[in-house]
Amino acid sequence: MSDQRSNFPLPLSSVTGGAGRTTKPAARGPVATPQTATRNAASTATQGGSAKAPPAPAPAPRPPSYVPKASSAPAAQRSDLMATEAVRRAMVARVARQGVANPKVLAALETVPRHLFIEPALSSQAYIDASLPIGHNQTISQPYIVARMIELMSESVRGGKALERVLEIGTGCGYQAAVLSFVAKEVYSIERIKPLHELAKTNLRPLRISNLRLQYGDGMLGLPQVAPFDGIILAAAGLEVPQALLEQLAIGAHLVAPVGAQVQHLHRITRIGKSEWTSETLEACHFVPLRPGTI
Ligand code: SAH
Repeated sequence: MSDQRSNFPLPLSSVTGGAGRTTKPAARGPVATPQTATRNAASTATQGGSAKAPPAPAPAPRPPSYVPKASSAPAAQRSDLMATEAVRRAMVARVARQGVANPKVLAALETVPRHLFIEPALSSQAYIDASLPIGHNQTISQPYIVARMIELMSESVRGGKALERVLEIGTGCGYQAAVLSFVAKEVYSIERIKPLHELAKTNLRPLRISNLRLQYGDGMLGLPQVAPFDGIILAAAGLEVPQALLEQLAIGAHLVAPVGAQVQHLHRITRIGKSEWTSETLEACHFVPLRPGTI
């Protein structure tokens, strides 16, 4: 058994370099640095253009508030949504081919209009599997990694119970938070850069998602007043996972985070007792850095 079992905080050496179980090969495709995101934005959007018709994912679970389908959206949004439904399905098919299998996650990805989270000049590239710049030297994560992290977080360790309350660190433009709102009953997301927190609010407003709360603050501290969480996702990479976040996981729940600096891997940490956690080291990835404080 190669899972690590230890008391946290883990020393860096114990969470990097293959100490845990590797369940997936290294991530393929573009990664989410501001630099590659800018290159992604500059290159033409031809990836996966010949995608075959996707396997129909299960219908999206209906959350308390529902992102409008093209047929029920206001007139101004309708043609926009219809025009993007097919390309969004193709994006989901690519993500499924890369190994994401959870039907709830794939359905959520198919529902959220990613182009609404990207500045208009780049929106023609909204459905390529790449990170893209969102300003302030930050990025919107590539759809594959968004789906993969949510799938890893959702994998049942709690007797198949639905995810009640989850936390995202690093709202950015709000895309992953929107996807999460279709997978969990209550979603909290924290952003440390004020203009990005405001941008996410603006992006999310037309979607009228009522089970999502955005918070401006230092996500390294978590939200102790709302904890425990059934799942936590970090969308930015630290050298280790902050202890405060580990303490805010419910017993049996997963935290998924990129860990590292130049070389990063996804880690999944599971709380198995009051002061006991296990850690798995998964695929390579590349995220913007986790930073303390607010700006
Ligand atoms: N979730 C986003 C990805 C955002 S990029 C998506 O939907 O694509 C990562 C974000 O993490 C950046 O906006 C960055 O400002 C933020 N971040 C970094 N450190 C943070 C911290 N300590 N607290 C909250 N947000 C943080």
